[in-house]
Amino acid sequence: MTEAAYPIYGEINGPIIMIGFGSIGRGTLPLIERHFTFDRTKLVVIDPREDIADDLAEKGIRHIRTHLTKDNYKDVMTPLVEGGKGGFCVNLSVDASSVDLMKLCRKHDVLYIDTVVEPWPGFYFDDKADNSARTNYRLRQTMLKAKEKHPGGTTAISTCGANPGMVSWFVKQALVNLASDMGVEIEEPRTGDREGWAKLMQTLGVKGVHVAERDTQRAREPKPFGTFWNTWSVEGFIAEGLQPAELGWGSHETWKPKNARKHKKGSKAAIYLEQPGADTRVRTWCPTHGAQYGLLVTHNEAISIADYFTVRDEDDKVAFRPTCHYAYHPCNDAVLSLYEMFGNGGQAQAVQHVLTEDELVDGADELGVLLYGHEKNAYWYGSRLTLEQARKLAPNQNATGLQVSSAVLAGMVWALENPDVGIVEADEMDYRRCLEIQKPYLGPVEGHYTDWTPLDGRPGFFPDDIDKDDPWQFRNILVR
Ligand code: NAD
Repeated sequence: MTEAAYPIYGEINGPIIMIGFGSIGRGTLPLIERHFTFDRTKLVVIDPREDIADDLAEKGIRHIRTHLTKDNYKDVMTPLVEGGKGGFCVNLSVDASSVDLMKLCRKHDVLYIDTVVEPWPGFYFDDKADNSARTNYRLRQTMLKAKEKHPGGTTAISTCGANPGMVSWFVKQALVNLASDMGVEIEEPRTGDREGWAKLMQTLGVKGVHVAERDTQRAREPKPFGTFWNTWSVEGFIAEGLQPAELGWGSHETWKPKNARKHKKGSKAAIYLEQPGADTRVRTWCPTHGAQYGLLVTHNEAISIADYFTVRDEDDKVAFRPTCHYAYHPCNDAVLSLYEMFGNGGQAQAVQHVLTEDELVDGADELGVLLYGHEKNAYWYGSRLTLEQARKLAPNQNATGLQVSSAVLAGMVWALENPDVGIVEADEMDYRRCLEIQKPYLGPVEGHYTDWTPLDGRPGFFPDDIDKDDPWQFRNILVR
């Protein structure tokens, strides 16, 4: 397809402020250029990095070389957003508070999107805070508080990348497919009908959802010792990997790990474990390589999906809630990097590097949702995007990056079409519209059934504390 043949989804009538121009920012810009009309002189990138300056200058894009901080963000941002109604702030940074930026943008009627509820520095590695204070549950609460305090108004989309983000749209599509395959006649709930969606999941007998991902992208050169390599932000991955493991906690669970902790405030849809997520393994399944270990790294969607699909009875007690968590097999270089890092007392390697599309030779990112525990056992629905496809589809990205940047694109289109719905998460958006925009960038998007369960091959030679009666208990999923 030529550039001219790409659909234009809308016009951005104001400034475009991109905060952060790392692996995802670099991949998102070409999609913005391809799918929106806008005034190029009003496009600005805020990022402290020097090595991107020449590239941006060549493209004729204004570059503010600043690290946004709690102290300077209002001074830097206000002149950009003031009078900027119709503009868009695309926050793809680390270490800049999503909630503060979102508030400022909404005050000036500037649309906003991010891919993670990011705090100002200090949150992730605060050794004085207890682990509950370092959870994504707490971060999400800060966003929900802003939403509750100022309902409606200019649209700001929270956590709209691949996951969190796109996977929430996959869950809905997977439920609709599952109903059809099971022969259950349904009237599809509307976008705003949260309860209808939750009841649909309950009716279909789904007990839980793994966000099951396998990244098989391989680098040309072997990873040197003392380096941390990944296919997306190393900084972001280490930060979330050292947060406590966290999961939406389902109503079918009969057992809890001894180090599981509850929250005292909010929906209480999630629990956390007193151990780092990137050092917590779970059993899961992806189509190409089948059964695998995944890492239970904390993610916003584990909490938002469990919360969204909760059914309450007349007394407001939880009648149904799915277990939901990430089960992430990063690329092999990242697995090795984590092994070295945890082996060294959790001290991150000095050299941290995001592998570009040119350093990678092959592989794919298989990212989907595994809906389990129903009468058809388990159903994976997701994107199976290869590096090769990603290279052909859009510039500046590997397979992981394109799944994220195309979700940002879909979120931006939806925000332009729904500019005054306030602060929303991906679960609350029109999944059909978003996937319609995103699908051309996702490679094959497919559903696969499996008869695999986390009890397969167990017990083996050694004693194993399993629940034989219900394969889909977290007790069987968690590797202990
Ligand atoms: P990256 O590390 O490659 O780039 C981050 C960029 O932000 C860097 O260029 C850095 O200089 C800049 N930056 C850091 N602090 C800043 C500040 N205070 N002000 C302005 N710029 C700042 O990261 P990435 O891979 O591009 O990821 C970007 C964000 O997207 C991260 O927060 C990451 O966690 C998130 N992410 C989300 C998903 C998802 O699916 N939801 C997937 C991948 C990444």
